[in-house]
Amino acid sequence: MRWTIYVDIDAFYVSCELRDRPELAGTPVIVGPDPKLGRTRGVVLSASYEARAFGVHSAQPVAQADRLCPAATWLPADFRKYGRISEEVRAYLAPRGDRAQPLSIDEVALELADVDQPTAEARAREIQQGLRSELRLPASLGVATDRTVAKIASDRAKPGGIVTVPPDQIAAFLAPLSVRAIPGVGPKTAERLAVAGITTIADFRRAPPGRLRAVVGGFSHELIRLAEGHPLPRSTADEAGPRSRSAARTLVEDIDAAPELRAVLEELSAELTRSLREEGLTFQTVTVGVRWSDFTRTQRGRTLRAMARTEGTLAAEAARLWAAIWAEEGLPQHRRVRTLSITASHLTPGGPSARSLEMFVDDGPRAPPHRAARTERPP
Ligand SMILES: [Mg+2]
Repeated sequence: MRWTIYVDIDAFYVSCELRDRPELAGTPVIVGPDPKLGRTRGVVLSASYEARAFGVHSAQPVAQADRLCPAATWLPADFRKYGRISEEVRAYLAPRGDRAQPLSIDEVALELADVDQPTAEARAREIQQGLRSELRLPASLGVATDRTVAKIASDRAKPGGIVTVPPDQIAAFLAPLSVRAIPGVGPKTAERLAVAGITTIADFRRAPPGRLRAVVGGFSHELIRLAEGHPLPRSTADEAGPRSRSAARTLVEDIDAAPELRAVLEELSAELTRSLREEGLTFQTVTVGVRWSDFTRTQRGRTLRAMARTEGTLAAEAARLWAAIWAEEGLPQHRRVRTLSITASHLTPGGPSARSLEMFVDDGPRAPPHRAARTERPP
């Protein structure tokens, strides 16, 4: 049977920092802009479980976190380090399953193609111990025959646990959980569901399908299937081929410094290239998106003449688009950047070798710099 081991590193940024500062283990540690240094506008990026015990959580304003846990040690974020360690985790996991799919900087779904439950569980324990002893990282793992269920199980295993959900227990496992446990159900959907009297996954099974459809649209069918214990069908996007892949970074503080922004952009290029390579995807369109500190957005993209997939092309194209955005809309207006993103679209699975494709890519200076440019402003 096919099993998925869903690996999620606990308090990832904090755990990365604790590798360099082992003396802080077991104490409240927060990664984010230190409010004691006057950086009162930012948010918490990651908090150790000892800090969470005081009510600190990620995305919380730093001033509030400081009030809740004045004794915490604050550490500045080092995204290069986190990218490097994320790479270590992926390299560690890849040979330990038939397919290792990274789903975020600190989450990997590891598929075991044809194993029984005891084998999958034993593998999960080995991986958890290995991550701890070799990479010095704590992880929570979910083990299930469905990837979504494995992800939900990894959440329930936090921190430092392993939760296995055998196929015949999926429905019972999911029933008492909040609808928020389902990936894809955000606060807004949860709110609409609550208004309709649906707060747990069990409520889903009892609700009339028509009412569900009215609340969550076409997604309802998949949710009902999941609540009944059936694996989620491969999404239509998977079948038709993926439409786009992105990498985005919300900055700790709004930044107006060009070198820092270029460094972030380079990291995003590397991250996106890696995930495209792992999925065997080539791209034809690159788009750079910026969300400014005033919450307006700018986005520019360019479609290449042929499919590409190497980091050089993506990075060069992203850098060019970014330079245009910065020169025209950032610098002259003294704007600060809040979020940066790179999207690769017009994706094709597999295809001829990257080398032969690269030769056809038109990234010479003659090409028009942007085919699509768009600036959105909130009403
Ligand atoms: Mg995590």
